[in-house]
Amino acid sequence: MSVCPCGMAHDYGECCQPFHTFAKLPESAEQLMRSRFSSFYLKNVDYIIATTAPAQQNLLDKPTLQAWADTMNWTHLTVISHNKVGKRHAQVHFRAYFDNDGQQGVHDERSAFVKVGERWYFLDPTLPTNLTGKQPCLCGSGDKFKTCCGRFLG
Ligand code: ZN
Repeated sequence: MSVCPCGMAHDYGECCQPFHTFAKLPESAEQLMRSRFSSFYLKNVDYIIATTAPAQQNLLDKPTLQAWADTMNWTHLTVISHNKVGKRHAQVHFRAYFDNDGQQGVHDERSAFVKVGERWYFLDPTLPTNLTGKQPCLCGSGDKFKTCCGRFLG
């Protein structure tokens, strides 16, 4: 029995672990966000990559991501707000706290997520996109990029 790092005060085995093993899918963007935090906490970068929008996954460099994850000592997470945006997007405002050898800090971030089929994915705004506004969106929705995920990227 160990408390899940995501902040829900549940046992890890009944909270984020089933997401990390893909036994279960997060039902909301907030749940996905929490599971990504606990994955960073556990330095499980594979899950971070697998939960990024599929079209962005090959732009992530696993060794770089792993090296960064290994330097971070996360302590806890608070979710400030969770808003659905339109029919397939959501934004989660959160604060992720860390303590790296006594150097404490907080990541205050508003992350965007897209639902593709039954699955939520993180939209990584730091990755380059060469799409123009009128092209079909990278999420596969069939909508134009600028009216779909483009609102949250670049
Ligand atoms: Zn989209």
